[in-house]
Amino acid sequence: MATPLPAAAGAILPFPTRPSAAPLLLSPPHLAGGEAERVRETLEAGWLAPAGPAPAAFEAAIGAVTGMGEVLATASGTAALHLGYRVLGVEPGDEVWAPAMTFVASVAPAVQMGATPRFLDVVETGWTLDPGLLAEELSKAARRGRLPRVVVPVDLYGQCCDLDAIVAACDRWGVPVMCDSAAAMGATQRGGRHAGQGARLAAFSFNGNKIVTAGGGGALAGEDTRLLARARQLAGQAKEPWPHYEHETTGYTYGLSSILAAVGLAQLPALAARVARRRDVFARYVAGLADLPGLGFIAEPAWGRANRWLTVLLVDPAPFGTDREGVRRALLAGGVESRPAWKPLHLQPAFRDAPQAGGATAAALFERGLCLPSGTGMTEADQARVIDLIRACARA
Ligand SMILES: *Cc1c(COP(=O)(O)O)cnc(C)c1O
Repeated sequence: MATPLPAAAGAILPFPTRPSAAPLLLSPPHLAGGEAERVRETLEAGWLAPAGPAPAAFEAAIGAVTGMGEVLATASGTAALHLGYRVLGVEPGDEVWAPAMTFVASVAPAVQMGATPRFLDVVETGWTLDPGLLAEELSKAARRGRLPRVVVPVDLYGQCCDLDAIVAACDRWGVPVMCDSAAAMGATQRGGRHAGQGARLAAFSFNGNKIVTAGGGGALAGEDTRLLARARQLAGQAKEPWPHYEHETTGYTYGLSSILAAVGLAQLPALAARVARRRDVFARYVAGLADLPGLGFIAEPAWGRANRWLTVLLVDPAPFGTDREGVRRALLAGGVESRPAWKPLHLQPAFRDAPQAGGATAAALFERGLCLPSGTGMTEADQARVIDLIRACARA
């Protein structure tokens, strides 16, 4: 007889998302309700391969939500970024520019392709790539005769970067923009356009910790039919359209499985509600903590609406009484997971030799930034407990 699988804390049970004794996690997956039926339908129709109706339907649904004309579902957000770097023609020795404040996956595939990353500082409002600095650095790079092959701004923690300004700066020099919108499903920028719209390519993630998930997966999206068709071909081992296996180049197994696409299809309809809920979580942290001296939050620029994937608390140790590590340890002792904000890439040992422009803002945000539990399945009582634990750290 088959032994049932053990229930993973926060991963299987629909409501609440975890047994009450388990630690409160940063951003556990949150079931929407229809996942099991969707997976059953897909299996019963005989689809196990990364082909068939579920991935195609998932692509259409992502297109409908994001307003992007061409969508390729991928095995991960990182795979989408890798395909994007390939179709934009990144080669060994090329430069790829990214904000200093981001997750390593934004540039990892390009580095593995032999490109050199250059890290530019971020603006304090929204923590995203500084378009003014970018414009200056592009002018300098043009004078050096070494423009980047691609600029990769990031919608950090679900806050859209100033994509219009970034694209305008890059257009001047004919440099393509690929937006890392991995954490930004449901976030909008100027004119209510979805995150990533306006970039040549945008990458999304449906990893288990994101606002909606497929249990792993991603998407590459844009308007350029030729680029997306090329990415699709590379995602399927670069097979040429012949009966035998013919390859003019090499590719990857980067398609999204039907099973995961089915999960993603059940999650996407919940996106708007999930954004509203994450924004409520953020608002409750602000209401519960903003009166304490030395605490702050990422400000939302007037032109964009963040999905508030993770609430990031800023701790100024002198007025508050302890630093972000003190808060993190106090939360851990209380059974609550939290995590320092991304350690900037220009400070990472892996990129010790990478060129950079600025970086002081990103470094300061890392010193003070702490990601708080922000899951949509978190109860108000749980969040009140987090707030109490943080309040107890304040200077008496
Ligand atoms: C999650 C994330 C990624 C990677 O997505 P995966 O699906 O985990 O590969 C890339 N960039 C950012 C900013 C992310 O938050």
